[in-house]
Amino acid sequence: MSCKSCNLERKELSPDVTWKDITEGGTIADAGNAVLIKTGEWRSKRPVWLKDKCKQCLLCFPVCPDSSIPVNSEGNREDFDYDHCKGCGICVKVCPFKAIDFVDEG
Ligand code: SF4
Ligand code: SF4
Repeated sequence: MSCKSCNLERKELSPDVTWKDITEGGTIADAGNAVLIKTGEWRSKRPVWLKDKCKQCLLCFPVCPDSSIPVNSEGNREDFDYDHCKGCGICVKVCPFKAIDFVDEG
């Protein structure tokens, strides 16, 4: 059997298959392709930036595991990248000024 996305040969797992027979893990076919995967589609909760309360302290920006808090060339944060924010809520917890609300998606 071959994998449609990468055309690597893949064997069905069974007790007779050794580690040498299975497809190598951690293979990245095209570097930098994470941006193409819209992980925001899996989100069940959504952070909402309350711009009026934001002091631009930028404490939220470095803790985002998905780099979904853009910072512009003047060093100010902008609105969330909802294509890639997975709704983990870390930014909500870290904001000292309650400038990020957290609501149900949809
Ligand atoms: S909810 Fe999580 S993934 Fe989304 S912007 Fe905040 S820290 Fe990043
Ligand atoms: S942590 Fe809160 S106040 Fe600071 S930049 Fe982020 S949203 Fe704005």
